[in-house]
Amino acid sequence: MSKRILICNRGEIAIRIAKAVRELGHTAVGFWTDNELEPPHLEYCDIWLHLKGNNNTETYLNMDQILKLVSEHKIEAVHPGYGFLSENTIFAKKLEEMAVIFIGPHSFAIEKMGDKAISKQMAKDSGVPVIPGSTGEIESAKEAAEISKEIGYPVLLKAVAGGGGKGMRVCLSEDELEKNFAAVRREAESSFGNPGVLVEKYILNPHHIEVQILADKKGNIFHCFERECSVQRRHQKIIEEAPSPFIGDDESLRLKISETAVLLAKAVNYDSAGTVEFIMAEDKSFYFLEMNTRIQVEHPITEEITGVDLVANMIKSALGEELDIKSQAEIKILGHAIECRICAEDPVTMLPAPGKVVAFDYSFPQGVRFDHCIYKGFEVKPDFDPMIGKLIVRGLNRKVAIRKTKDALSRMHIDGVKTNLKLHEIIIDQENFVAGDYTTNYISEVKPQDQVEALVSDVALFKKALAIEIESMRQ
Ligand code: ADP
Ligand code: ADP
Ligand code: MG
Repeated sequence: MSKRILICNRGEIAIRIAKAVRELGHTAVGFWTDNELEPPHLEYCDIWLHLKGNNNTETYLNMDQILKLVSEHKIEAVHPGYGFLSENTIFAKKLEEMAVIFIGPHSFAIEKMGDKAISKQMAKDSGVPVIPGSTGEIESAKEAAEISKEIGYPVLLKAVAGGGGKGMRVCLSEDELEKNFAAVRREAESSFGNPGVLVEKYILNPHHIEVQILADKKGNIFHCFERECSVQRRHQKIIEEAPSPFIGDDESLRLKISETAVLLAKAVNYDSAGTVEFIMAEDKSFYFLEMNTRIQVEHPITEEITGVDLVANMIKSALGEELDIKSQAEIKILGHAIECRICAEDPVTMLPAPGKVVAFDYSFPQGVRFDHCIYKGFEVKPDFDPMIGKLIVRGLNRKVAIRKTKDALSRMHIDGVKTNLKLHEIIIDQENFVAGDYTTNYISEVKPQDQVEALVSDVALFKKALAIEIESMRQ
């Protein structure tokens, strides 16, 4: 039966969800706001609703207004996307009360996994290795210092409700720990409305490796293998790849980490698409980091290597339908995929740079998927997430995927706003990256951003020389 499904998000993910909603024969309902009068996702939506307001607090984070529209327009299911209300237990519970389907896991899983301290305890209880340190919240700097003395410095203070790489501080000594404790609590309270903090060992030179989970409401829990997301700035991912080059051809390790993720998913009776994130140390031991109970930004690379449509299956699961896959054995890895997050940001400082796109074009090689919300005239407002597109490239193997990514990056032009395209071009060509030899410290240690200026001025010089040549040909 066709359902009226509301997409509670904007940008590239709203388009991605709308495509899946329509493909499954449902009605896609999208929002426009006073801050974005003609968002590109509406092209993929059958019904357009006005969400009043000029900023995210008034619109996509405004639960009351959204719930009112849900009931007024007889919405039957809601897909929250990522960010905004996607991991908000109250939102999921309110929809449950209204007998509207929340396209995500049951609210108990969101609640437990949304708290880094509670989820860590649950992971530990179910036999999943966790990072040494406190499992629960710590109450005082003194308690943090006692635990840190035991586990040894450096340690990381982390907001239990944190996300998006925010609410974390590395402390090298007891002095630093004391200084940072109150500050992290304050930041956590103001950013996440929860001052809870935990302390854990800061793992040196680690890899961020995560496992995609896909589950239905009938008790089937599958994994779709791993993604490596170690190219990060400010603890936020900018390039992801699947499978992980660090795990490489160690199939037993691949299976072990994937099955460990399933173990945790089983412990919370997980029943949707979700991701279990791990930190992998230099010696390949791995520890639970957190679970994201939603569709993730980098889900497409898994779709590309497994052929499983995660968004469509997440919807099917929420509606109580059968998944497209019936057994774990059906899910296989074919080839390699890389995703570059294209952000409206200064490529050197990597800070958001809002503005208006005045020109946009591309001519990609075979095997490229570009999930984006860019068009000529598109205005990246300060209130929007700076991520405006995801370049997703699939190849027969990692070498081919890198070759195609390099070509695709050089054939995309965005003018009017600063983007990190040139930074990606440098990374994709950089020796350590090509060798698959990088950790989460890659950006801070190798500093590919330092080479951007040289590349940009090379391009400017080339353009100038070309203009002179064209001019001389005209004469
Ligand atoms: P993923 O885990 O899917 O790779 P991120 O953790 O980078 O993605 O976050 C996904 C999106 O949600 C990003 O656009 C980020 O800005 C936003 N986000 C994540 N957590 C929060 C949060 N707690 N509050 C606000 N925005 C968040
Ligand atoms: P978020 O909710 O913001 O995504 P995570 O707990 O997933 O927070 O951590 C984000 C990133 O921070 C990780 O991918 C990793 O690079 C770094 N990080 C988190 N915890 C640790 C740790 N204990 N040791 C080293 N790096 C860490
Ligand atoms: Mg994370």
